[in-house]
Amino acid sequence: MLQASRGWRRGGGSIGLVPTMGALHAGHLSLVELARRENDVVVVSIFVNPIQFGPGEDFARYPRDPARDARLLHQAEVDAIYEPSADVMYPPDAGTRVHVGSVAEPLEGRARPGHFEGVATVVTKLLAAVEPDRAYFGQKDAQQVAVVKRLVRDLDLGVDMRIAPTVREVDGLALSSRNVYLDPEGRKAAASLSAGLRAAAQAYAGGERDPDLLRRVLAAPMGAEPLVAVEYAEVVDPATFHKPGTLAVVAARLGKTRLIDNHDLRLPFVR
Ligand code: AMP
Repeated sequence: MLQASRGWRRGGGSIGLVPTMGALHAGHLSLVELARRENDVVVVSIFVNPIQFGPGEDFARYPRDPARDARLLHQAEVDAIYEPSADVMYPPDAGTRVHVGSVAEPLEGRARPGHFEGVATVVTKLLAAVEPDRAYFGQKDAQQVAVVKRLVRDLDLGVDMRIAPTVREVDGLALSSRNVYLDPEGRKAAASLSAGLRAAAQAYAGGERDPDLLRRVLAAPMGAEPLVAVEYAEVVDPATFHKPGTLAVVAARLGKTRLIDNHDLRLPFVR
C-alpha cells in the first residue's frame, strides 16, 4: 500500500483515504464522493478491526460482503481498495496501542471499554500505510471524529480531517451497517433515536437551553418505545465529549442490536 501511495505522491497527486469496515451503504459512499471531488487519488480501506470490538460484541457476525463492496467502489471510481488481513495488521507480537485520553472516556468509551484504543490504533496504522493528504470520517460516529481529531493533533499526524454529514433514511434513521440486524418491528422502533434528536433540535431552535429539559426531550421518543433500551441520551461538547455542550448524542439497544446517533442542536435537523 505504502509503495503505491508513494508512487502517486511522486507523480504529484493528492491522496484521500476513506477508512471503512465494509458492508457499504450510501453513508460510506457520500464520504467516497466527497473524497473523489477533493483528491486526485482515492483509497478506501475495508477492515473489520478486531481490536475495536469487545468480548461479546458483534465482531464475528458483523456483515461482510467484499464482492459487493468492490463493485460499489468501482462504480464510485476509487483508485484503490486497501483490504489488509487481520494477521498483517496485528501479527502475534504486535502489542502497541494508541491511547487517546479524556475525549475517549465518557459515553461510547464507557459503554465499550477498549473500543477507542482499537479505533485510534487502526486509524494510526491506516494513515501510516496510505500517507493521505486528507482522511474522511462521518459525523454519524461523532465521538470517533473527536477522538481521531485529537489523535491527529496530539501525534502531529498532519492529515487534513474531513467530516461528512450523516446520511439518513426517510424516517430519520441514520444509515448503518448494523441496521441489517433489525427485524421489521425493530426497524420501526429505531426511528425513535432520530425522533429525539429532531425534537431536541426543535426545542433548541425555540430557545430552550436548560440541559435537563433538552435531555428529557431527547430521550422521550426512545422511552416511549418498549423495544428500545436507552443506554445514554446526553448533550455534550462536540470536541471534548464532556458536559455542557450542544451535541445531542444517543445510544440504545434494540434486542441484540446497538445503535448510536447524534445531532448538533445549533443546526436544523434535516429529516
Ligand atoms: P464504518 O464502516 O461503520 O466504520 O464507517 C466508516 C465511515 O463511514 C465512518 O467514518 C463512519 O462515521 C461513516 N458513516 C457510517 N454511517 C454513516 C452515515 N449514515 N452517514 C455518513 N457517514 C457514515
